[in-house]
Amino acid sequence: MCRHLAFLGPPTSLADLLLAPAHGLLTQSWAPRRQRNGTMNADGFGAGWYAPGDPVPARYRRAVPMWADASFTDVARVTTSTAVLAAVRSATPGTTPDEAAAAPYTDGNWLFSHNGRVDGWPTSVAALAAQLPPARLLSLEARVDSAVLWALVQDRLAAGAAAPEALATVVADVSAATTGRFNFLLTDGTTIAATAAGDTLCWRRNGSGTVVASEPSDDGPGWHQVPDGSVLTATAEHVDVRPIVPRRTEPA
Ligand code: GLN
Repeated sequence: MCRHLAFLGPPTSLADLLLAPAHGLLTQSWAPRRQRNGTMNADGFGAGWYAPGDPVPARYRRAVPMWADASFTDVARVTTSTAVLAAVRSATPGTTPDEAAAAPYTDGNWLFSHNGRVDGWPTSVAALAAQLPPARLLSLEARVDSAVLWALVQDRLAAGAAAPEALATVVADVSAATTGRFNFLLTDGTTIAATAAGDTLCWRRNGSGTVVASEPSDDGPGWHQVPDGSVLTATAEHVDVRPIVPRRTEPA
């Protein structure tokens, strides 16, 4: 499945973050090292970032492989940010192939990405319908499982949940209703929330900032693997990892 990455730290170019590292997101689009499902991530890509003084992120998304878009090389070289979320996509069968389905998704100040799948898509959407009003389902930006999961996260955020709590409760609720893999990344440009729920996740924090990613961008020191079933919260200075509490099934 896809690979994704979020960054907080000193101003860094998208090229230094995504393209230059020996095993960064660009290399992961054709040769990921820890991907458990799928071999390539050639079904589109996206990067979102925050500009100084503007809390609403900008996005660059395409339906082509990252390596096939020469324009992104130029944009990435001159775009510098203190907060970035980017992803390369391996589309789940039955989902729409176009740019609208490429992460990151956005709403206001948020950027969101999902690495994984809802098993049995699209039929399995019925299992989630009870958690989402029909009008929301019909107004999704793209016909893809990740957009449904993002709508569920948006609902939790709108109800006042903090970002890690919103992600963890969606993992718990969706896991109680159906099966799949639910690795999420969410940032507002100040903090990163992430889940490890079925696929790989790691993090590193050093003088260059904090990176939370599906897999290490290089063979340097300082990468930590996140145990499956965890929710992570990160700032540029601090990383916290806790278990996701499963939903208790009510006695009959
Ligand atoms: N299911 C999502 C999609 O189709 C994410 C896929 C992935 O993690 N490879 O885009």
